[in-house]
Amino acid sequence: MVMIMRIMKFGGASVATAESFHRIAEIILQQTDEEIVVVVSAMGQTTDELLTLAKKVHPEPPRRELDMLVSVGERISIALLAMALSKQGRDAVSFTGSQSGIITCTNHSQANIIELRPKRVREALEKKKVAIVAGFQGVSKLGEITTLGRGGSDTSAVALAVALGADAVHFYKDVEGIYTADPKTHADAQLVSEMSYEEALELTKKGAKILHPRAIELARKNGVQLYVRTFKKDSQIGTVVGKGVLRNAVIEYEGEN
Ligand code: ASP
Ligand code: MG
Repeated sequence: MVMIMRIMKFGGASVATAESFHRIAEIILQQTDEEIVVVVSAMGQTTDELLTLAKKVHPEPPRRELDMLVSVGERISIALLAMALSKQGRDAVSFTGSQSGIITCTNHSQANIIELRPKRVREALEKKKVAIVAGFQGVSKLGEITTLGRGGSDTSAVALAVALGADAVHFYKDVEGIYTADPKTHADAQLVSEMSYEEALELTKKGAKILHPRAIELARKNGVQLYVRTFKKDSQIGTVVGKGVLRNAVIEYEGEN
């Protein structure tokens, strides 16, 4: 039997407060898909705060230790989300990047994903649990904790979709989708319902921060569609990137850097 899988990604703005985890849990509980994988970022400004904290102790902290520290942000989020789901009666289990089998090169704080072995994620899904994965982090082949660079959780979500054979990733944002300009500063910005990977990449070059370019690139290589919508209300999809593109048979990650 073919299971219908949904990969959802929630960024820092969607989990800025303790209460927001209940809102995210509500959105997850609305989904009817048999298998649900959720990737989540650190709460609000947590990553910045951890970086500031590190700098107070050492102006140029060893990069290994910096990864050890900043990866904690996402770890807080995954545990709290699992708790919020549990409170609402849904079985969920959280995994660090390492536990999810996100294997990276050894380039601390800017690591590339080279392979995925999401064995434990698959096992959780088989047990009908929501699998919650920490974005932004992985583990090198030597067993060291790595991070993927700022905004890396989008890339984690797309990489998981590639490895698990999902066709799409659903991103939940504080805006309704991708606009022609920043809707927070441009009142005349128009919501774009569909665009190609190339168009989305072009927008990020012009400074749009809606999806990380590495995530778009990885999606383009593997034919994963990207849906962008808001977490603020129950709404239809705002923007689809790469609509109609077929999943590639050959898996391609980012490669060593
Ligand atoms: N928390 C990390 C950052 O702020 C990763 C992410 O949000 O995607 O850069
Ligand atoms: Mg963040």
